[in-house]
Amino acid sequence: MSLKYDAIVIGGGHNGLTCGAYLARAGLKTLVLERRHVIGGAVVFEEVVPGFTFSVFSLLTGALSSKVIRELELHKFGLDKVYDGGDIFVPISKDEYLSLSRDARKTQQSFERFSQHDARAYPDFRAYLEEIGLLFRRLMLETPVDPTKGNWKAFKRTAEFLWRYRRIGGQFYRVVDLMTQSADDYLAPWFESSIVRAVFAYWASIGNCAGPKTPGSAYCMLDNVIGGSKESPRGHVRGGMGAIAKAIAASGTAFGLQILTDSEVREVVTQNGRAISVITAKG
Ligand SMILES: Cc1cc2nc3c(=O)[nH]c(=O)nc-3n(C[C@H](O)[C@H](O)[C@H](O)COP(=O)(O)OP(=O)(O)OC[C@H]3O[C@@H](n4cnc5c(N)ncnc54)[C@H](O)[C@@H]3O)c2cc1C
Repeated sequence: MSLKYDAIVIGGGHNGLTCGAYLARAGLKTLVLERRHVIGGAVVFEEVVPGFTFSVFSLLTGALSSKVIRELELHKFGLDKVYDGGDIFVPISKDEYLSLSRDARKTQQSFERFSQHDARAYPDFRAYLEEIGLLFRRLMLETPVDPTKGNWKAFKRTAEFLWRYRRIGGQFYRVVDLMTQSADDYLAPWFESSIVRAVFAYWASIGNCAGPKTPGSAYCMLDNVIGGSKESPRGHVRGGMGAIAKAIAASGTAFGLQILTDSEVREVVTQNGRAISVITAKG
C-alpha cells in the first residue's frame, strides 16, 4: 500500500466517502480512513441479530442528493430500489392518532380532529415549504462565498453568486427564517394545536441533538417533512442505509479510491498552515 496520496479524507461516513469518490473520479490518488470496522458513519447497517442486518441510525433516504446519485452512478454500483416511506402514523393516545400523508387531503382530515384552523392552514404551509425547498436544494450545491476576504477573486465570486440569485426577492427572508428560527417559532404562526405542532417538531429533532426550541431547528423540518425528489424519494432503501455507503464506496473504488477501516486518525500534521500528512492510532 502506498503511503503517499494526493488527498486523504478522515472519516468514512457518507460525506467522507462521497468526497473520496469524487476526488478519485477526478483522477486524484485518494485514501479514506475510517476509525470503525465498518464504513458509512450514521448511514450504516449492522448485524444486530445473527443473520439480520438493520439500519441502526439513519433510516430515510430523502436527503440523498439526486445529483450525487447521478454523478457517482450509484444505481450502477449497487444502490437499489428506494421504497416510498408511505404515510406516517403518529399515535397520540389510546384513541387518538394523527397521520402525515403525501396526500394533503388525508393529512388535512387527520388535522381536522384537532383543529379546523390547522387543517385549513396545512396546504398553504406545505406549499410554502415546498417552494423554499426548491431554493434550498440549489443553495446546498453552492460553494459558500466569503465577501469579507477583500480580494478580487472573492469579490468576483460573491458578485456571480448574487447575480445568480438576483430574482429570489422576498424568499431571502424565508431562507433566513428557516435557517435561524426554532421549529417552535416557525410553526407558531401557522398552527394553533400543540399536537399538530408537536408532530412537526418531532421531525425537526430527528437525527440531531436539537430540541424544537433550539434556534435553527426549523431548517431540520424541511427535508423530513417535504423530503426527497423524484430521483431521490424519501423512503427506505432496499438493503438498509448501509447499502448507500457501500454503493458510494464501490463507485469510488472503481476509480482507484482506497478505503481503510479500523484506522483512526490521531493527528493531522501541518506545515506552514497546510495539512501535509496524518498519523493513525496504529502509527
Ligand atoms: C439517530 C440518527 C438518525 C438519523 N436519521 C436520518 C435519516 O433518517 N435520514 C437522513 O438523511 N439523515 C439522518 N440522520 C443524519 C445523518 O445520518 C447524518 O447527517 C450523516 O450521517 C452525516 O454524515 P457524515 O458522513 O458527515 O458523518 P458521520 O455519518 O458521522 O460519519 C463520520 C465518520 O467519521 C469517522 N471518524 C470520526 N473521527 C474519525 C477519526 N479521527 N479518524 C477516522 N475516522 C473518524 C466516524 O467513525 C464516522 O464513520 C440521522 C442521524 C442520527 C444520529
